[in-house]
Amino acid sequence: MSGEAVTLVTPIEALPGVTERQAGFMRSLGVTNLGRLVAYLPMRHERVEGETPVREMKADTLATARGEITATRPVRRGRSPRFEAVLHDGTGRLDLVWFNQMFVGDRVAPGVFLRVEGKVRRRGPGLQMANPRWHVVDAAQARAPAEDARVRPVYPATADFSSRQIERVMAKCVPLGLALIDDHLPEAFRREKAMPELREAYRMQHAPADEHEVKESRRRLAYDELLMLQLGVHMKRAHLRTRLKAPALRWGEAIDAHIRQRLPFTLTPSQDKVVKEIAADLARPTPANRLIQGDVGSGKTVVALYAMLMAVASGCQGSIMAPTEILAEQHHASITRMLAGSRVRVELLTGGVARDQRESVLARLASGEIDILVGTHALLTEDVRFSNLAVAIIDEQHRFGVVQRASLRAKASDASTTPHVLVMTATPIPRTLAITLFGDLDVSVIGGLPPGRRPVMTRVMSSGERDVVYAEVLPLLEEGQQAYVVAPAIDTGAPEPMLIQEAPREPAGGAPRPPLRDCRTVAAELAATYLPGKRIGVMHGALSRAARETVMERFRRGEIDVLVATTVIEVGVDVPGATVMIIEQADRFGLSQLHQLRGRVGRGDKPSRCYLIADPTTDDAMARLHAVEATPDGFALAEKDLELRGPGEMFGARQSGLPPFKVADLMRDRELLAMARRDAAAWIERSPVLANPEEALLKRRMLKAYGEHLGLADVG
Ligand code: ADP
Ligand code: MG
Repeated sequence: MSGEAVTLVTPIEALPGVTERQAGFMRSLGVTNLGRLVAYLPMRHERVEGETPVREMKADTLATARGEITATRPVRRGRSPRFEAVLHDGTGRLDLVWFNQMFVGDRVAPGVFLRVEGKVRRRGPGLQMANPRWHVVDAAQARAPAEDARVRPVYPATADFSSRQIERVMAKCVPLGLALIDDHLPEAFRREKAMPELREAYRMQHAPADEHEVKESRRRLAYDELLMLQLGVHMKRAHLRTRLKAPALRWGEAIDAHIRQRLPFTLTPSQDKVVKEIAADLARPTPANRLIQGDVGSGKTVVALYAMLMAVASGCQGSIMAPTEILAEQHHASITRMLAGSRVRVELLTGGVARDQRESVLARLASGEIDILVGTHALLTEDVRFSNLAVAIIDEQHRFGVVQRASLRAKASDASTTPHVLVMTATPIPRTLAITLFGDLDVSVIGGLPPGRRPVMTRVMSSGERDVVYAEVLPLLEEGQQAYVVAPAIDTGAPEPMLIQEAPREPAGGAPRPPLRDCRTVAAELAATYLPGKRIGVMHGALSRAARETVMERFRRGEIDVLVATTVIEVGVDVPGATVMIIEQADRFGLSQLHQLRGRVGRGDKPSRCYLIADPTTDDAMARLHAVEATPDGFALAEKDLELRGPGEMFGARQSGLPPFKVADLMRDRELLAMARRDAAAWIERSPVLANPEEALLKRRMLKAYGEHLGLADVG
């Protein structure tokens, strides 16, 4: 060392006492400097039992003893050579024996003090430990108190560099680092929450005195992560509220009556409540930012239409963005139908729209000749310019980047004005996650189902029972009811791209799974074997737009009995005459996905059913299928999914938009999350951009952790 002062950014190899070899391994774990070293936390802790005086030892228990070696003897006779020793601890005598470990004699000799750990056995009148774990201790530590049970950190390690080896580096370096750590929470705030100081929290993780300290420090560190995220979320929200303007839309009895008269049915009380919440939002000059949650089939589309018509009533534009072309096409068709005979001009914009049509749409959009634009994410591309977009709806959103909302906001004509944004989701998001992901959104819930709708009877069947399934379905088709059959692939084994992101992981080490069943094979099998003479259509993402529209339209009109499809029909598709959903290789789909697919039926007045055909190879896969069978409620199912898979996988780790937590766990830390949320709201109320000097450290750390994730670049 050159005598330079150690700081948190001092490289690992420059820290006093760290060998080159240790530094190399620590680097391979991502620990490049002192700050990272302190933040490299144990993944768990284990209890090392305290020492027992020999006199109190009982046979056939695990024990730890400490004492002086008074005699040793290598024994080379017999089948297995052994090394014997006698240990005295002042209360009694313990015999030690190591088989086939003659090297123990290199270090264990009379006068040496040892700590030994192992199973105690009775040997004649005395006690013996065979093959104990051992290490030499100082004479000064020879007498240890009986209550020195200790909690030891267990670090994420590698085959070449064990947790024990990491522990040794930590013991040398952590104290140096702790001295340099400043707390970003004010002392009074921290005390009020009974949280330890930050540096104490790290100390307690690396070198806890007891289990209580482990818990207490974990609570502090998890809370920090959640608090910072919530501060960011609330800061952004405050920014949107105070800095940005949105068109205040007109609303009153006349407009309300006018809009309702366009809707094909009376709104349910729950839809009514949500419509009022939305209308109140849209009538304000600040941008609405609202999440509309409603289970599959709860009737979100008309609510969206209501909001867009409010925009039109004020002479502005509305847009709705769907996740698939099929859904966008369907929305376009149904909205056009509902608005037939009105002056409202509706257009469609997707990747599948022909080029000259696209140019025409873009031109009329920019000049205000289009009132409502329906589309896919093609709406977000740069050349799409609205003349005065007031209400932007994102329908059936599964993946929740803030990015899309941000780019919609950018569609406004000038920088300080932005459209109201409503996000509709049918992947019911458990409250826990909604708060975390959408802390910057208001939430409305459409509860229950529209009148006449009944839960879908669901059954798990094996592939050997396929004939039973179709024997039950055939008479229903004879009556004019219709069925969907979903297969995971389009064509010989090539999975539909949408599926890959959400399918549960392959079971580790399990038998290789059978190849994916595909639409073409399934359709041929139906025609030849199970449903001869029935009209069978095929639908998947590789068809052209025209082909898709034709198939959907024929299915809607009842000219097709069975639609064999991939998951392209997963969301939104609404054909009330369909009463049967058959899902092939159902174990290939996620829970929420199965629920979505099931939601395609049960839309008319006839009872509906869903068959999950699968031969799951793991208990876990079986549990998931039975959860769908037993749980009609999407919200309950989503909570279940979260429990079974964890949040990362539930939404597909990458696209999920889930913040990366090191310590906090959304399932385990629900209470801390609620507390962090309340605290952050109050904090931002007092100090909207964390501009006080004593908040500088907190703000810096918050931005570093979540700034990018939350898109906070433009906020103070
Ligand atoms: P979601 O998008 O929430 O899954 P949809 O908007 O597709 O649900 O609506 C599901 C079905 O319920 C559609 O067939 C729709 O026409 C019907 N529906 C919606 N609201 C009502 C209502 N208030 N009364 C009767 N039927 C309704
Ligand atoms: Mg919908």
